[in-house]
Amino acid sequence: MSYKSRLRIAIQKSGRLSQESQSLLKQCGMKINLSEQRLIAYAENMPIDLLRVRDDDIPGLVFDGVVDLGIIGENVLEEAELSRIAANEVAKYKMLRRLDFGDCRLSLAVPTDSDYQGVSSLNEMRIATSYPHLLKRFMTQHGINFKSCLLNGSVEVATRAGLADAICDLVSTGTTLEANGLREVDVIYRSKACLIQRVGEIDTEKQALIERLMVRIQGVTQARE
Ligand code: ATP
Ligand code: ZN
Repeated sequence: MSYKSRLRIAIQKSGRLSQESQSLLKQCGMKINLSEQRLIAYAENMPIDLLRVRDDDIPGLVFDGVVDLGIIGENVLEEAELSRIAANEVAKYKMLRRLDFGDCRLSLAVPTDSDYQGVSSLNEMRIATSYPHLLKRFMTQHGINFKSCLLNGSVEVATRAGLADAICDLVSTGTTLEANGLREVDVIYRSKACLIQRVGEIDTEKQALIERLMVRIQGVTQARE
């Protein structure tokens, strides 16, 4: 197999999905040396290269066909897709499967002492988030107008800092919210990590390798259940 026909998989370099992404691939039999802080890691025993990037870059790399596969949180994937659609650009990908890690929810939270009577209480309020498109879709579905405050970090301190009336952020246990004087009031999106494939021509050997990988992932996942 030539260098070009090596399968490229994008995974998060460091963060909440990276350990589980790496161990899933290792459990599928891939021998990878990840000790170095390199962008690309080569599998020693399979024609596979791992591209290790920020999670936010993974959807675009798949949509644009730069990599063949990506492991990404559905929250980031769907936000990126909505963002492309809003810009009149294409966002094509194939969902291969949901994975058994990366569970989290995107939730609305308000200051603990505030009077919340349902999502309509947020009408005309300012909401801080890193997920403006997922939030907009939810609010539109509920017929609520809101003002946005886009923050790519520190969303949980936005209300205390007087930047917003409420926040919409990822939650897994809720302790961060509590520590910031916030109360989770509505879940707007439930997410897990997933495996996606680029759309478009692909050589037969590569496709066969993807299919073998899928069988192994299925086996690994079942064994963990
Ligand atoms: P990067 O440096 O790659 O941009 P990041 O800081 O944006 O990383 P992480 O905090 O590592 O991202 O989260 C990556 C993904 O892990 C999230 O998008 C989400 O799908 C998932 N996740 C699982 N639990 C949580 C949680 N409690 N908080 C945030 N994300 C979570
Ligand atoms: Zn990120």
